[in-house]
This record gives sequence, structure tokens and C-alpha cells, in this order.
Amino acid sequence: MNLKEHLQHPVFRYVQSIADNENQRAFAIGGFVRDLLLERPCKDIDIVIEGSGLALAEQVAKQMKVKKVSYFKNFGTAMFKTSDTEIEFVGARKESYQRDSRKPIVENGSIQDDQERRDFTINALAISLNGESYGELIDPFGGIEDLNNQLLRTPLDPDITYSDDPLRMMRAVRFASQLGFRIEEESMEAISRNAHRLGIVSMERISVELNKIVLSKKPSFGFKLLEKTGLLAEIFPLMLKLKGVEVREGIGHKDNFYHTLQVLDNVAEHSDDLWLRWSAILHDIAKPQTKRFEPGHGWTFHGHEDKGARMVPKIFKSLKLPLDHKMKYVQKLVLLHLRPIALTKEVITDSAVRRLLFEAGDDIDDLMTLCRADITSKNERKVKRYLSNYELVKQRLVELEEKDRIRNFQPPVSGEMIMEIFDIPPGRQIGTLKEIIKEAILEGDIPNDLESAKKLLLEEAKKMGLQAK
Ligand code: ATP
Ligand code: MG
Repeated sequence: MNLKEHLQHPVFRYVQSIADNENQRAFAIGGFVRDLLLERPCKDIDIVIEGSGLALAEQVAKQMKVKKVSYFKNFGTAMFKTSDTEIEFVGARKESYQRDSRKPIVENGSIQDDQERRDFTINALAISLNGESYGELIDPFGGIEDLNNQLLRTPLDPDITYSDDPLRMMRAVRFASQLGFRIEEESMEAISRNAHRLGIVSMERISVELNKIVLSKKPSFGFKLLEKTGLLAEIFPLMLKLKGVEVREGIGHKDNFYHTLQVLDNVAEHSDDLWLRWSAILHDIAKPQTKRFEPGHGWTFHGHEDKGARMVPKIFKSLKLPLDHKMKYVQKLVLLHLRPIALTKEVITDSAVRRLLFEAGDDIDDLMTLCRADITSKNERKVKRYLSNYELVKQRLVELEEKDRIRNFQPPVSGEMIMEIFDIPPGRQIGTLKEIIKEAILEGDIPNDLESAKKLLLEEAKKMGLQAK
């Protein structure tokens, strides 16, 4: 197979002339070749030379008039950016591993050595960049066939590949989920055997792959593989606790693991937001801890939203996910995930809708997406009822937001205004007055405007013995 026409980027011709001159073999390799054949967009190009990657990068950059080149002498790699592509240069290498580290001992090697150390046959494809053979595909392990069969297979014995660098097990599941490929049976078994070896990989590296699974088109596919291979038990055992059904007095509850995955897939159909997807993963995380059987009634999970929200920081910490506003957002969605539908259990009052808007703020649309995704019963009548309730709440939210603008609620009177009007220093009274006004607006006792708020402020301040100056 010759892929000459597909080597669009100018860098390839520069590499060709330099490598030919030096009498060294050079190749485009790895993810770039795979994505080219799959017609997926690819933002980085990896180039391997049987020689020095650093020297090649230096010469290419000079000829292409690229000024800024980053050299990583310790790794023998160099890279630079041209417009939106990152190009990395490295010498072909041979790797050998020790048992307790995923950092190999590296020596110079041939292209064949270099292809052997790669994780999957589809990632080990190379394209020649030399003279006559320019554009020719080098596929020593049947990568093309595996691409056609949508199969993930390791170039060497899978037990060796995975044990050498256990992160590859996460990558296997990640590629399966991203590309919709199958993992070869022998590989699945090897992953199951080696899952415990993930312990030598840092959680930061693991969660990079995990997030790529979460962001794939149908994340449940990846999570089911993580579960089946035992990888999930290594990285996120709490999620596994959701699995299983208990039956008492002939009453069972739903399997919350598969329910969670369904909710995650539903959310994924509507949003590419990583953190909204994490909210789906965690929305029921406290169900196992709050599960009770009430005789004669059935299963309850009272307070799982509240407990779940409180579990989020520890979970984020253990998975090395960011502990900033993104975590707060997930906490908020977990906490509020029942509220929209719970509203419909009684008469939907304006004040209840206003309170929901106030608490969700700008995340109300995401909350509603999660809430819609959470409707997964097998009972069609139930689904129908929940869906119509959902639509009802949605409509009321729109109506009230138009009328009262609660979503980005800013109290019409500020603390500074109160201090100014009554000529008082900062203190508890100010907070109390602000709270009274906020409550009155949310309850619908007064409209959300300055004039009404001021009137109430004067009345309430008088009761507290304050005089306007
Ligand atoms: P993506 O860029 O979509 O994350 P990729 O396969 O290009 O996927 P990179 O991390 O960019 O992944 O790595 C480029 C290439 O380096 C891979 O295609 C593979 O050949 C090789 N590679 C990366 N990580 C490993 C690893 N842990 N073990 C073996 N080979 C690897
Ligand atoms: Mg890549």
C-alpha cells in the first residue's frame, strides 16, 4: 500500500531529503498513521528516524524556518509546532522493562524494534519517508487487517505488553470505546490477569485515559469493559458497589450500575461536556450507602443525593480530577438531580420553581439534561408519566425565568446600600436584612425589583430599631 498522496504536510518532504542525505531510514508512525487510515482528524505527527531525533528536528526546523524547537534530551525527543500541528521527532528505540516500573531501559534500535515496543498493532503502523519507498506502509504485525476487522491486538504476547506498561490496559479500553473496536479475546484475558499491575501507574495518567472513555460516543461500552476486566475495581471500586439487585418480599430495585451507565449514555447523546458526564456517573453514587428496605413498602434511597454530593470531593481527589469549580459543579448537579421531578410530586408552586432556579443558577439547563437522562424505567407507563412531569417543570421554569429573572439572581439591594441608607457599619444585621429580602422574592411576596425591595427593607429595618438617615 502506498500512501504518498496522503502525506500532505510539508514536513514529510523535508524529512525525506535530510534522511536520504544522511543515509538513514525515517518514518511517520503511530497514531498519525492509524488516524490517517481511519480518516480521523489528527493534530500530531510522530516521526521516527534510525538515528538521532534531536539532530533531525534541528535540521528540519532550520529548513522550514521554524524558530522555536523544544528539545527533551533525556528522552531523545524534540518537537515543534507548525500552525495547528505538533510534530515530534525521535530516534528508533528498543525498550526493556523491569518489573516494578513502567519506565523502560532504552537503547537505540531499528524500526522493527521501535514498532515492537508499541501498544497495539494499529498503533505500530509506519510509513516510509525515504527515496523510492516514500509513502510505503510498513505493517509487520497485521495492523491493517486489525483496522479492517476493528480489532485491538498487541504486537507481542499480550501478557508481556501489558505487564511491561500497565497503562496500556487503560489505553486498550480507551481505544475500544473511542473507535468502537473489539479487544481481542487473548488480550481481554491478559488484561484481567494483569489488572492489579495498574498499581504502578500514577492516577494522573490513568484518569487521562478514563476521561477519554467518559468523552467517547457511547461511554457505557468502555465502562463495561473496565468492569469486565477488573480494571474498574482497581481504579474506582466505589462505582462497582452500584452493581447488583437485592430482592426482599418479592420486591427488587434496579441495578444502579447499569442504570448509571444508561444515564451516562443518555447525557452523552446531548452533551460533550466532561463534567456534565461526570455528574451522570456520580448522580446515584451514594445509593448503596443509603439503601433501606421498608417492609410492606419497598426500597428507598433517602438522602442519596445529599450524601452523594458530599462524597464527590473525596472521589475527585482519589481519581486526581481537578478540585476546583468543576468539582463544585458536579457536586451541585448531584445534589439537585432529584429536584425537578420531585417538584411534580405536589402542586408545583411558583416559589418552589423559583427556589430551584435560584439554587441551580446558570447550570439549570445542564441539570434538566441530567434529569431527563435519568428517566430510564423499563415500565413504559412510568416513563411516560415522568416525561410529561419533566416537560411541565421545564415549561414552568421558562415562564418564571422570563417573569422574575431568578437564574442569575442578584439581590436588588446590596450590603453597601443598606449600610449607606442606615449609616451602619458592616455586621450581622445586614446579612439578616438581605436574607429577608431574598426570601420574600423567592416566596413571591414581593416582585424582584429595587422599589419593592427598598420598601420591605425600610419596614423590616424599622422593626430592628434602625432609622434611615
Ligand atoms: P491519541 O493521540 O488519540 O491520544 P495516540 O495513539 O496517538 O492516541 P499518543 O499518546 O499520541 O497516542 O502516542 C502516539 C503513539 O505512541 C501511539 O500511537 C503508540 O504507537 C505509541 N504509544 C503511546 N503510548 C504508548 C504506550 N503506553 N505503550 C506503547 N506505545 C505507546
Ligand atoms: Mg497522538
